[in-house]
Amino acid sequence: MKKAIFLDRDGVINYDPDDYIYRMEDFRFLDNLFEIAKEVTKRGYQIIVITNQGGINKKRYSTEDVERIHAHVEKGFKENGTPITEIYYCPHHSDLQKCMCRKPGSLMVERALAKYNIDPSKSYFIGDKQRDIVCAEGAGVKGIKIDVNQMKLSILEQID
Ligand SMILES: [Mg+2]
Ligand SMILES: [Zn+2]
Repeated sequence: MKKAIFLDRDGVINYDPDDYIYRMEDFRFLDNLFEIAKEVTKRGYQIIVITNQGGINKKRYSTEDVERIHAHVEKGFKENGTPITEIYYCPHHSDLQKCMCRKPGSLMVERALAKYNIDPSKSYFIGDKQRDIVCAEGAGVKGIKIDVNQMKLSILEQID
């Protein structure tokens, strides 16, 4: 079985100004992100992104906006030599609609585990919110909680 590092998006991959990020000009990769990605790839982990994008449901932005950002994220990781296996996102918002996928639910992680034959007990989820950790643990994946926008190299010490 394989192992993976799950990453939340906003506040972990890119700067989170505590508002929705959907315009390219507001998107900025965090410092150390690509160095961390290189090291975990070297250690044999796949990289999978798990993100809530309830702004779609709220009509703050469109699916196309999200996919434009995600194409940019995938390009950045690919150019770093650390391609992302898949980006999963939940387009629903709990204020408007119930769904199974939105974090803290674990469904997006469970789908990835099944699709890519990943061992949850050897995998980690780096997130900046408690709901990321609840989502991870619900799928049997170890959660690593960071402060928003603080991708520190010391995170690597918590990963086998
Ligand atoms: Mg976040
Ligand atoms: Zn959903």
